[in-house]
Amino acid sequence: MNAAEKKKVSVVVPFLNEEQNIPVFYERTTRAMEGRPEELEIIFVDDGSTDGSARWVAEKAKQDARVKLLRLSRNFGHQIAITAGMDYARSDAVVIIDADLQDPPEVIPELIDKWREGFEVVYAVRESREGETWAKKFLAASFYQLFRRLAKIDVPVNAGDFRLVDRKVVEALKQVRELHRFMRGLTCWVGFSQCAVNYHRAARHAGQTKYPVWKSLRLAVDAVTSFSGAPLRWLTGVGMLIGVAGAVVLVYVVVRRLISPIGYEPGWATIIAFMLFLGGIQLVSLGLIGQYVSRIFEETKKRPLYYVREEIGLGK
Ligand code: UDP
Ligand code: MG
Repeated sequence: MNAAEKKKVSVVVPFLNEEQNIPVFYERTTRAMEGRPEELEIIFVDDGSTDGSARWVAEKAKQDARVKLLRLSRNFGHQIAITAGMDYARSDAVVIIDADLQDPPEVIPELIDKWREGFEVVYAVRESREGETWAKKFLAASFYQLFRRLAKIDVPVNAGDFRLVDRKVVEALKQVRELHRFMRGLTCWVGFSQCAVNYHRAARHAGQTKYPVWKSLRLAVDAVTSFSGAPLRWLTGVGMLIGVAGAVVLVYVVVRRLISPIGYEPGWATIIAFMLFLGGIQLVSLGLIGQYVSRIFEETKKRPLYYVREEIGLGK
């Protein structure tokens, strides 16, 4: 293979306080890529870490030119950290992978091989997942089902952010600057030819998850509200159903009143129950509309997605 054909691959690694994992991650990734024909760069994106992880990467970058560091000015969240890494990558393909070794770096060469076959998005599908709570697995499974139905895009079930994307896809994604980003949804939404590689998702190498259930739920709400207006349409449906039911009851009450000698319908408890029920539905509906309105509010401000505090080896 001549030099002109030599392809470059960036591995983008967002991290938040992963000092126990990053050195092992570096070892395993560089070992997995040994002997590969592709030129490698590892872009570590520091998403506001407060431990020694960024320092470790900065030191490593002095010894190994393949290691690059991008430090964001604060914690912007996993999805934005991924975006930042992609913005700075200068390569033919970008691999997105977590720093906690749940996504094994040994799978990266498999992703690259598929990409070499001509696929533009190669996502890694979790055949099994270890060390995650029952609740998280259940929520994840239900979420993917719901999201697929709502967003009408074929987001693969059980694929996280671990994937390889071609330069063309990176350029497409760079044009999408929405603040609430659901990257797995977006990489499917932009299209291109996609293909899956199976892997076994390990437990975290060390440390705690930074995605507790409530944060995962927030990501799910972000995903749904940024990809689909269907919940708003459901509200209309629910409103209409209740309206029709109300009309039927009204006719019944009037007719009863006309033909019955006793002048009133008893039912204080029923009224209260219905009022609470309706009140609940109305408040939930308002909250849901509020979700969309706040999205509009935040997007219209057009704030930058992130700020960079320091970069080593990148140079945009
Ligand atoms: N992460 C990040 N910013 C955050 C939260 C997490 O960069 O605000 C990183 C984290 O260090 C890890 C990856 O994103 O490399 C995935 O996070 P985590 O392992 O906590 O999520 P889980 O795998 O449990 O869903
Ligand atoms: Mg993890």
